Amino acid sequence: MGKKSKNEPKSGQLAAPVVLGIDLGGTKILASAVDRQGRIIGSAKRKTRSERGVDATIERILKTAYDAVDDANLDMDQISAVGIGAPGVADYDAGVVEFAPNLSNWVNVPLGPTLKKALGIPVFVENDVNAGTYGEYTVGAARGYQSVLGVFPGTGIGGGIILGGKLWRGARNAAAEIGHFVVMIDGPVCGCGRRGCIEAVASRTAIERDILGEIRGGRPSIVTDLVNLDKDRITSGTLAEALAKGDPLVTDVIERAAYHLGVFTAGMVNTLDTECVVYGGGLIEACADVMLPIIREATYRYLIRPVEPEHLPIIEAALGDDAVLLGAAMLASASLPHKQRT
Ligand SMILES: [Zn+2]
Repeated sequence: MGKKSKNEPKSGQLAAPVVLGIDLGGTKILASAVDRQGRIIGSAKRKTRSERGVDATIERILKTAYDAVDDANLDMDQISAVGIGAPGVADYDAGVVEFAPNLSNWVNVPLGPTLKKALGIPVFVENDVNAGTYGEYTVGAARGYQSVLGVFPGTGIGGGIILGGKLWRGARNAAAEIGHFVVMIDGPVCGCGRRGCIEAVASRTAIERDILGEIRGGRPSIVTDLVNLDKDRITSGTLAEALAKGDPLVTDVIERAAYHLGVFTAGMVNTLDTECVVYGGGLIEACADVMLPIIREATYRYLIRPVEPEHLPIIEAALGDDAVLLGAAMLASASLPHKQRT
């Protein structure tokens, strides 16, 4: 790229190999160059624009990757691997995104091999929430635990499972699709077409639906002052504002969602018996003060084998929007042959 003269780190040896972490989202692509300790040393972002086609999106991923490396004052040949979190079912071994509902026409896209050919370095493709959970496990709130359940409520509810220090992908790359755990037989319709999934009961989308239903039924709420309901969505930020102002309707609906999340979490812990649970995602970031205490109380109450809370911490995620790219980067780093990592 002809920029060597201004980039001082290139003249000396880096203390440790740098990997590139990428978060391929439905609306934006985030990329960061990450050192072995999980520190971000350069970043870039770009809109995804998946409606322009798969090839165009891959081109945008490549541009964002080069921008992030450039921002770190490095060249791509100084990057040892790329990890990328994709919003769908990913075959980690093949590097194929099998299906990504939030990206137009992404069915069986060989993302890993295509990026590897273009960049000339190993590329590892992982489901985004799996990557986010792995990020919290390696460099975030769940560092030090060997088994972790990650729960990320937002538009939907995603999850990740770490067992014995390893990401559990399942027999068909479909593990931790926790959002479609049915908690209410014949409950509200879910995006998947079934009824009563936890995602249809306690995601931000479900909370919004319940608040709108109550408002249409005549119940007053400050939400009608905060949002133009004819054209705008009720964001997590709006929910937080309504909670802060003590709005009774929003408080009721969010407390009910949190209670369901807690009962659901107990079921997951009764199944997996993890050392800790990490809660993250946009809804939790905005409403943690109200939701987490209720989630904790309900979880502990529904555990079949009672534990002291300090023996099953239910903690808030620490990495925010960087969780997926950091987790993808740390996965890529861990996937390299040992001598390339040291
Ligand atoms: Zn569902």
